[in-house]
Amino acid sequence: MTGSESIDPDVRQRVREAAAAVTPDAAEFTAALVRERSVQGAETAAQERVREEMTALGLDVETLTATDVPGIEDHPEFADTGDSYEGRPNLIATLPGDGDGRSLLFNGHIDVVPEGDEDQWSFDPFGGEVVDGEIRGRGASDMKGGLAAMVYAVEALRRAGVTLRGDLLLQSVIEEESGGFGGSLATALAGPEADAVVIPEPTDFDCWIANDGVSYFRVTVEGRGAHAANTDSGVNAAAKLIPIFESLTDLHDERKTAVHDELFERTAENTVSLNVGTVRAGEWPSSVPDEAVLEGRVSHAPAETRADLREQVEARVRDAAAGDPWLEAHPPEIEWFGWRGSSARIDPAEPIVETVQSVAPSVVDHEPRAIGFPGGIDTRFFVNYADTPALCFGPGAHAIHGTDEFLPVEELEQLIAALALIAMDWCGYDIAADATAASEGASP
Ligand SMILES: [Zn+2]
Repeated sequence: MTGSESIDPDVRQRVREAAAAVTPDAAEFTAALVRERSVQGAETAAQERVREEMTALGLDVETLTATDVPGIEDHPEFADTGDSYEGRPNLIATLPGDGDGRSLLFNGHIDVVPEGDEDQWSFDPFGGEVVDGEIRGRGASDMKGGLAAMVYAVEALRRAGVTLRGDLLLQSVIEEESGGFGGSLATALAGPEADAVVIPEPTDFDCWIANDGVSYFRVTVEGRGAHAANTDSGVNAAAKLIPIFESLTDLHDERKTAVHDELFERTAENTVSLNVGTVRAGEWPSSVPDEAVLEGRVSHAPAETRADLREQVEARVRDAAAGDPWLEAHPPEIEWFGWRGSSARIDPAEPIVETVQSVAPSVVDHEPRAIGFPGGIDTRFFVNYADTPALCFGPGAHAIHGTDEFLPVEELEQLIAALALIAMDWCGYDIAADATAASEGASP
């Protein structure tokens, strides 16, 4: 049986009360994680904190480091972030089910993006305080709160006297903000396998069931340097770059009109986009620039291939250069560099989507919409390389990647209850005969 009918209203209420009871500890745990500045390459201390908490709550924790996965560096999705994986493990904890129910994996990333200009914050980005019902600091919403909720959903189930019939797995992964190569790519390739994956990224309690593929590109145009007094003896590379810039802007306009996926346009303006993010030329006001470079990010919809998209971009650059004798003799160079993420999409009718949509509204006061996210998310690794349906479902996105990030404690409590109920609906469950006594059990 699926749907909200699958959980007895009395049991649901007991789980909600248990979620409320564990929320202060979960909020303090979230705040403690915020106090660890776990930017890319510096996740070790925060992961150790997660391991301690999981262990204290009775979970067995194993580790998986990216370099444990043979051949990962040759995987088409892998890119080198420049940091060694030594001392940067992913954590995998298992709550074994006591029956033959479906297994479920909760996955969350421990890394955060840098704080930016600290002076623009009205509080310490790594102070990790709970003030006026808010957990404050970098990562509170994206996604240390979600990670804490995964862990405390297990504790809420225990206190409510609920045992799951299928296995529940928890993964705390590194490096999501840099592409996820040493994190969820590694865990998706190495297993353990599950029947579905839920990642509590800050989705405003919607279900992200699709994502665009993302690629970075660089176009370099050569000019000929000269002294400004003899400007016309040189060739200004910046001037040669302008038609290419304009042509790429036109491509963005054409693609956003032509490429549609209804999942994305339920909330976003466009399904796909092309952005020129940097433009550089010249070094000195009285010299003719001998080189100009632009870099951009272009996305492709799940129904497109990256190869086709690359050909569109490259053809556009070639066309912009055609007819210019200098550019025909010095063709612009195009590179695809840095990280590139694949697109992914699961069917809105997947049972895990149905589970989230049926059990979440009773606790989050919102009907989760099945939508696409116009960027890279870790679900793509499980969908594309582990053949496992995966979605993101989590709390509000409160100033994520910006200044004054926070997470309301109320949303943390809602998420703990929602994740516990999602696990029960998906894995199946039993209630201990002495559940009332269990619900009064001591917190570790
Ligand atoms: Zn995130």
